[in-house]
Amino acid sequence: MDTMKAVRVEVCGAAEQMSVKEVPLPKPGAGEVRVKLTACGINLIDTYHRSGLYPLALPTGLGCEGAGLVGALGEGVDDLTEGDRVGFAMGLGAYAEAIVLPRGALVKIPAGVSDEEAAAVLLKAMTVDYLFNDTFPLQGGETVLFHAAAGGVGLIACQWAKHKGVKLIGTASTQAKCELAVRHGAESCLLTDDPDLSEKLRAQSPGGFPVVYDSVGRSTYRLSLGVLAPLGTFVSYGNASGPIDAVVPGELALSGSLYFTRPTLATHMARPGWMQASADRIFNLIERGHLSVDVNQRYALSDVVSAHQDLEGRRTTGSSVLIP
Ligand code: NDP
Repeated sequence: MDTMKAVRVEVCGAAEQMSVKEVPLPKPGAGEVRVKLTACGINLIDTYHRSGLYPLALPTGLGCEGAGLVGALGEGVDDLTEGDRVGFAMGLGAYAEAIVLPRGALVKIPAGVSDEEAAAVLLKAMTVDYLFNDTFPLQGGETVLFHAAAGGVGLIACQWAKHKGVKLIGTASTQAKCELAVRHGAESCLLTDDPDLSEKLRAQSPGGFPVVYDSVGRSTYRLSLGVLAPLGTFVSYGNASGPIDAVVPGELALSGSLYFTRPTLATHMARPGWMQASADRIFNLIERGHLSVDVNQRYALSDVVSAHQDLEGRRTTGSSVLIP
């Protein structure tokens, strides 16, 4: 086989801009590995790449997360063999039958974790790992606010918070999503469109929250600012409803000398040794039964347009995967 199927975007825009093309099978160069993909993770960031919110050179492949079998090794890669099971959380072009990545971008998948689980969890759980252990290190005992608690990142956050002894108060758009978040360990979950949401959140944490993890952005920014405790930390890590227009330093002052941070997984991935250490923490949680991977939507590669429409239309819960 010297060609493969891969999703391509030639012009940024709506989901229909994606199409599956027959493209040359990439060859690994020195220090690189070709992975025959068995499952590709779907993330909201893929829709930002497709729409142009996060600009990429065009035409482009899509998809950052996946898992599969080592298919070919480039010169100098001597610690993997063909057939090894590997996964990754930052490799553009994962919506495909195969991908070539530097050896350093891959982690070996242990026997107790399936390819599909690895493809559905790595990027999302590494995000929760840095949010909870680096951006605002949680010690246990805190009560925190976490928006979109029933999503891919969200259901992992609910479980990890529970495991750390942290009370996670979630928000989600439907009662069914709220119930799912609570079943995954959230202390409680409130409806996003509740007109009394601010008041109800203040009742959950009377002095205010020490930290708010906000991936929704534009539509939750003001609410999040208003429920933080003095000296609290606003963690803005996504734009599901669109980016926040502007952060005004004076508002952070008036809301109680707040800290504001806009972290990315890429920054943490660039820290020497961090990616492997994070993968070890995640696989360990799965193998010890503290973290279950909820693959609640599966799509064929040819159904990628529906997959994005469902994610952007808020019709998904937990993780979604494409099966090439
Ligand atoms: P999700 O599965 O969480 O899907 C996004 C969710 O956002 C929806 O299900 C929906 O939940 C909620 N949402 C709120 N408002 C809107 C809106 N207007 N349109 C669409 N969705 C909305 O996605 P992921 O798990 O892939 O990612 C979660 C968030 O984390 C994203 O914002 C993503 O960009 C961010 N992220 C950031 C990273 C970083 O390092 N900075 C890394 C990984 C993810 P509901 O219906 O309950 O409101």
